[in-house]
Amino acid sequence: MVKVKEWVKNLVTYKPGKPIEYVAKEIGIEAEEIVKLASNENSMGASPAAVAAIRNNIDSIYKYPDGSSYDLINKLAGKYLISSEQIVVGNGSDEIINLIYSAFCEKGDKAIMAFPSFAEYLLIGMAHRSNVVKVPLVDFKIDLAGIKEAIDGNTRIVFLNSPNNPTGTIIEQKELEAFMKAVPDDILVVLDEAYYEYATGKPGFPESVEFIKRFDNLLILRTFSKAYGLAGLRIGYGMGSSEIIDAINKVRQPFNVNRVAQIAAGAALEDTKFISETRTMNETGMNYLKSELKDIGVEYVESYANFLLIDLKTDADSVSDKLLKRGVIVRSMSGYGLKEFVRVTVGNESENRKFVAALKSVMNEV
Ligand code: PMP
Repeated sequence: MVKVKEWVKNLVTYKPGKPIEYVAKEIGIEAEEIVKLASNENSMGASPAAVAAIRNNIDSIYKYPDGSSYDLINKLAGKYLISSEQIVVGNGSDEIINLIYSAFCEKGDKAIMAFPSFAEYLLIGMAHRSNVVKVPLVDFKIDLAGIKEAIDGNTRIVFLNSPNNPTGTIIEQKELEAFMKAVPDDILVVLDEAYYEYATGKPGFPESVEFIKRFDNLLILRTFSKAYGLAGLRIGYGMGSSEIIDAINKVRQPFNVNRVAQIAAGAALEDTKFISETRTMNETGMNYLKSELKDIGVEYVESYANFLLIDLKTDADSVSDKLLKRGVIVRSMSGYGLKEFVRVTVGNESENRKFVAALKSVMNEV
């Protein structure tokens, strides 16, 4: 047997939502009958412009990708009116989180995150032997005062997530401003906006790109996995000062983002019609879910994203197992210390109806 490093043995493996095909086999129904509302994917599918661009370029996959993602970075720079040196593209924003630890956090250094928030800040940090400190949410919101208090001389990174997964709550413009002013400028603040496209324009939600023009220690993360519908391609990006981006580029593999993903993301970025339809579908679905949940008498946290955190007031694992048997996959939050909560993605009309019907029947049973 090969010898695994002692500390690696203690790491926890990230558990992604179960694939539909796997669940279909497990419960013995057709994959088409299953509704997956567990990974915050876009139920409209992928941006059609991205799919067309892939079809038109598929013959070029024998070539290596452009290691500098030149075209895509230039498009992003044009969209956000920043320099191309302020942008890095990764194999999903997950990869960029990994690169952040590689570039900025030595073994034993402290990284601070809210809890519950996106699990990868913790899991990737542990794989880098960082000391990841969790600051509990207050009223389901990120506790910026608590995070500030947790900062000490060993702190290198703070991870903020807005809208926060799994609560859907945001850090407002004024709160972000005060926080950035208060945090020492040698600490990297990562603002993960994976659900930006759903929240932008809503009251209080900051246009954070303005902040990177003022704060050299801020790095924004965004992704093509959510509203753009390209989760399977693995592509996300970071925006910050050229010093931060330069450091990340030094630890990045040269061909980290595949050719097809770069082409598709470039086309998706220009597909504003798709994003606007996605936002409309999400708004309609969110309103429908909220009104049905009110009818059932189930509480939820007000969300700026494409998911809802639901308080079942009963064991979430057991409810999600029962939903699964009815062909609906949601995410139990028991592993996040929220034993009576599930997170459900806002789907399309028929998915939402199926979820509501299944939830009603399960809640009648418990
Ligand atoms: N950040 C947050 C808050 C997320 O919810 C996710 C996806 N679950 C990611 C980052 C990772 O996104 P990507 O697919 O770009 O790696």
